[in-house]
Amino acid sequence: MIIVMKKDASEADIQRVAQRVVELGFRTHLSKGEERTIIGLIGDERPVNWETLERMEGVEKVLRVLPAYKLASRDFKPENTVISIQGTRIGDREVVVMAGPCAVEDRPQMREIAQAIKETGVHILRGGAFKPRTSPYSFQGLGQEGLEILAEMREEFGLAIVTEVMAPEQVPLVAQYADILQIGARNMQNFALLHAVGELNKPVLLKRGMMATVEELLMSAEYILSHGNYQVMLCERGIRTFETYTRNTFDINAIPLLKSLTHLPVIADPSHGTGKWNLVGAVSKAAVAAGADGLIIEVHPHPSRALSDGAQSLKLPAFAELMTGLRAVAQAIGREL
Ligand code: PEP
Ligand code: MN
Repeated sequence: MIIVMKKDASEADIQRVAQRVVELGFRTHLSKGEERTIIGLIGDERPVNWETLERMEGVEKVLRVLPAYKLASRDFKPENTVISIQGTRIGDREVVVMAGPCAVEDRPQMREIAQAIKETGVHILRGGAFKPRTSPYSFQGLGQEGLEILAEMREEFGLAIVTEVMAPEQVPLVAQYADILQIGARNMQNFALLHAVGELNKPVLLKRGMMATVEELLMSAEYILSHGNYQVMLCERGIRTFETYTRNTFDINAIPLLKSLTHLPVIADPSHGTGKWNLVGAVSKAAVAAGADGLIIEVHPHPSRALSDGAQSLKLPAFAELMTGLRAVAQAIGREL
């Protein structure tokens, strides 16, 4: 439920209504827009006499929020959520690029990448230390050593770090090193993990499951929000379809759709979305044109030697060139990059 206050409602009116809602057993979420204030109700919707609320001074109307997700919905919070990380604002006018290898492999690899992306104007470095691999015989990541290497790169280059956390028991360790915790596609519905990151006060990048609907993605975000962490960004990374030429089918529709359904920032991952380095540029540009607030792109100095996802990783010069192209697209739609 949301309570829409009148344009001329006073602060005292708003406080009285919020107080009443708390007395009825709900938590509230106040959204102060330019025009009017909206009071969102959080909790199980029990039979309450809504008419009495509608009659309170300053109330214009009481509306039922139709989607199953509430905190994530735009009805509930019309204005965009903006997440600030070391001065970079995600969800605002700037399109934010995160780049780095699929997996942290060693210090020289990370230093070369960090330096190269920093020179292109990127502020956020990606790299997996815990890798969810399809085969148990594939490289599983460096674990804590990988996190330490990432933290060194933050120190040396002033980059923020995004890295994946795979299990609830890893959350305290990963949160010690990461600026953004990534929940991978395979864990989108790991509810214990969603609960654990929901208790943090740190940004979370939630990736869409490879067979998840947009509504399921939003319901997973709702788990995190409902535990008190409002710093969630959603990531479209391609879904599984009958098409086999590409690793996944990048769902471009999901970007404007999510932007209309939710206030949370939307990030695009054209690397996993395509699985092919030569398609990454075009899909990145399409994602920015479609309204993505950011991109997460895999890069590697020597993709043929990468320990994971080499086929979809851009070489460093190709990435620098792409950044120039992306700037032009961002400008064309009135954004910055
Ligand atoms: C990754 O970002 O390297 C990754 C494993 O992504 P996803 O969870 O989307 O497959
Ligand atoms: Mn990868």
